[in-house]
This record gives sequence, structure tokens and C-alpha cells, in this order.
Amino acid sequence: DCVVYWMRMEDLRVSDNRALAQASAKAHQEQIPLITLFVLSPQDYLAHDRGARRIDFTLRNLENIKASLARLHIPLYITSHSPRTSLPAYVHTLLKEWNSSHLFANIEYEVDELRRDIKVCELAHKDGKVASIFVHDKCVISPGEVRTKEGRGYTVYSPFLRAWLPQVEGFSLREDERAKMTICWPAGEDVAKQMLDRFLHTSARTSQLGATDPLADGAKAPSKSPDKESRVGKYKDARDRVDADTTSRLSPYLAAGVISARECIRATLELSRSGKVDASRETGVGRWVQEIAWRDFYMHVLALFPRVSMGRPFQEKFAVVRWETNAHLQAWKDGRTGVPIVDAAMRQAREMGWMHNRVRMVSAMFLAKDLMIDWRLGEKHFMEVLIDGDLASNNGGWQWSASTGVKADPTGDYIRRFVPELAKVRGADIHKPPPALADKLGYPRPLVKHEEARERAIRRYKNPGAE
Ligand code: FAD
Repeated sequence: DCVVYWMRMEDLRVSDNRALAQASAKAHQEQIPLITLFVLSPQDYLAHDRGARRIDFTLRNLENIKASLARLHIPLYITSHSPRTSLPAYVHTLLKEWNSSHLFANIEYEVDELRRDIKVCELAHKDGKVASIFVHDKCVISPGEVRTKEGRGYTVYSPFLRAWLPQVEGFSLREDERAKMTICWPAGEDVAKQMLDRFLHTSARTSQLGATDPLADGAKAPSKSPDKESRVGKYKDARDRVDADTTSRLSPYLAAGVISARECIRATLELSRSGKVDASRETGVGRWVQEIAWRDFYMHVLALFPRVSMGRPFQEKFAVVRWETNAHLQAWKDGRTGVPIVDAAMRQAREMGWMHNRVRMVSAMFLAKDLMIDWRLGEKHFMEVLIDGDLASNNGGWQWSASTGVKADPTGDYIRRFVPELAKVRGADIHKPPPALADKLGYPRPLVKHEEARERAIRRYKNPGAE
């Protein structure tokens, strides 16, 4: 058995290639190999006036693709066929020879090509053995998705553009959102340097928790704290507290390259050389440097094991873990799971586009272990909502997140800040509101019972593929 991705002259790439991505997901799901097929069709090239330069360019690109696919352990089978009229039958024969269960390809919109593909579909359908899936990939917005009021295709560019733009403007922010993000995360290299300064030389105040303007506490005109009192000075002990603003909040700037990680390291070296702080591995400075090393670590993993950026688990054995349906996914995204710390985290992400590391781990664990929902859906949501979304760190965080254990919000102030329904709850109830209180405050009951969910997760991770 195998899945076949039929690559054509117009989709000579591995990344952001929809048919290839879907074929790869199918092969992964069915646990069968994926083969890429490329059929050279000289008669088609003649019929369509393809020049020698273009054909040569195709062949040179194929060489590259072959190497990229080989790195992913996907073979590329290049063959040639004439006459073109029998090409569908030829492809069909290959599929049968390979005992292929699925054929994936990106749609080519030219009439000859559409006819050819329809023929391939018909043959596959008659045979009943191969499912053929042709997908839109070539355009930003697929043909047919923007139409005139009368439902026809546009024939004039300007009105087409007016209809087309709103569809690609998924990337533009609403004005109020933009204003909020601009306050939370002002742009610019100077700001990034001030943030670094704020971290190295000023102290954390609880009142700054979830502060909208991270520089409001004086880093703009830094009133420096004694170095031991600075955020970095206290980082070793305070970094896991989510109920205070104790970390650097540099991740959006580092992720966007507004400040380099090397500059951060240089600044810490200067600070330790000055003798004002101890920079050994176990101190604040030392611990912070180790966090920067995490960033490098995940980037190295991504560079050296590219499969992690193609939706593959790092540990292959977990490829077959059985996930629950996604019924609770939306509640998790909305911060309505009934578990206060998870809900505070998810609402902080919505509100600020950022979360503290500890609660990223808590909410990631909750999705993948308590709710038993495929972690890749969580990874995707984080990328969509976080301003520091970074493939390597995010993927690493999701894949490597171990159990968290430590109490991150002993005061409950973090939960009170982001889950206003619970703002007036005092004492231990803040972490586990009794059902009657939760109902009264309009706060949801927990989606799952933690103990039962824990056992289910242990069972499924221990023996992936079973039950
Ligand atoms: P500080 O504690 O001040 O650390 C300084 C810098 O070190 C950070 O800005 C970051 O660049 C790096 N760093 C710290 N911890 C980590 C870590 N665990 N992994 C990688 N780099 C680290 N970080 C991102 O930048 N982008 C992401 O998309 C992202 N997704 C994550 C998803 C999950 C599930 C988890 C558990 C972690 C994720 N992280 C991500 C890592 C970490 O949570 C953030 O980098 C950190 O919370 C940012 O806050 P800070 O700048 O105040 O960090």
C-alpha cells in the first residue's frame, strides 16, 4: 500500500504545497509510505509551446526537490510518457502496480489538464481501489471564490481586486486590536533595548502583572534598582511566578529579530563582568542565559530534524496516539474549561498575544493530556494568537512540555486578573471553585475530571495505537 502525490510542472516545491501536505498527512494516518510521482510528457510540452528553458528549469528544480524529499524519506519517481492521450491510463497503471490507495494532486486549471485529470479520476473511480483527491493550491484565493453579485467570474481587474483583498486581509488587524497590541508591544529596536534594560536593571512589581504598557514602570527613563533586586537578579526564584511580571517579555522582539539573542547574551556578560551580579549557572543571570539556550536548542532541532516542522511528532511512536474528537477545543481556546489557571492563560493569550512560559505549559498539557486533543491543533492556535509565535519554540514547547508540577500562581492574582468572574474569590477556592460557587458566578464547570483524564492519557501514551 502507498499514497501517491502526483507532482506537476507547476508545483515544484515541498513547502506550503497543499496536495503534498495532505498526501503526507494521509500516509501518516494510514501508516503507509508516500511516493511522489512526476511524469514528463514531451507531447504536452510541444502542444503547449513550452520552451526549452522552461523544461530545463523544471528538470533543475526537480533535482533540488528530489534532495529535499529524500531528506524527508519520500522517494521521487520521475518517468516519461508519450503519447499524451494515454497518459491517464499510464498513471492509473502505475497506481495499480504500486497498490496505491490514494492519489493526491494540485489542480491545474488549463482545459487539457483538467480533462486529463478527470480521466484519471474516472479510471480510479471505475476501479474502485484508488481515492483521487485534487486540491486547489495555485492561487492565493481559489478560482470561483470571488464572484460578482450575479455569481459570475470577474472580467475587470479593479472590482476583482476589491473583492479579492478582503479575503486576503485575514492578516490585517481590527483597529481596536491594533491599538491594544501597540500598547502592549510597541515596535522598534529602541523599545527592545529598553525592554532588555528593564529586565536587567529594574525590579518587578506585582501591579505590573498583565500590564498593558510594559515600559510604564520607568524603563523609559530607568530608575535603576539595586542589581540584586532587578528582575534578572531575582529570576532564578521568581521566573516561575505567573502572578507577577518577572520575566523579560522579550520573546516578541526576539522572535521577530528586533533584538538579537547575541546582544542579550552580551549584555548579561557585561553585567556579570561588572561584578554587580553573580553569573554562575544557578543564579538569575545564569538561569536566564539558559532560557536563551532553549531558544537556540529548538531552532537547532528544527534545522537538523525538519520533520518536526511537517506536523510529525519528534518521537515517531507517538504518531499513532488516539485523540479525542475536538468537541472541547473551542472551550479551551476561549478560556472556558472550568480550570481557572488554564482559563486565565488562554484569556491572557487572547488579550495580550503573550503568555508566561509556565502557563503555556499548563494549558498545552491540559489540551494534550486532560482533553486528549491532538496537540497540533493547540500548536496552531498558539501560532495564530501569540505575537511571539515562532515555529521552532512553539513546536518545541508543545512537543517537549513535560508535567508542570510547580504552583505557578500561589496568590491567585493571575487568575483574578484574567478571569474576572473569579475576581472576588478568596483563598484556595480560586484554583478550584466549588461547583455551587462557580454556577453562581457564571463560571463553567470543569470539562473533564482530572483523575480520569490523567489515567486515560497515561494509557494512551504508554501504548500508542491501542484503544
Ligand atoms: P524569558 O523568561 O525572559 O526568557 C528570555 C528568552 O529566552 C525568551 O524571550 C525566549 O526567546 C527564550 N526562551 C525562554 N524560554 C524558552 C523556551 N522554553 N523555549 C524557547 N525559548 C525560550 N516562545 C516563543 O518565543 N515563541 C513561541 O511561539 C513559543 N511557544 C511556546 C509554546 C509552548 C507550549 C511553550 C511551553 C513554550 C513556548 N515558548 C515560545 C517559549 C516560552 O514560553 C517563551 O519564550 C517565554 O514565555 C517568553 O517570555 P519572556 O520573553 O518573558 O521569557
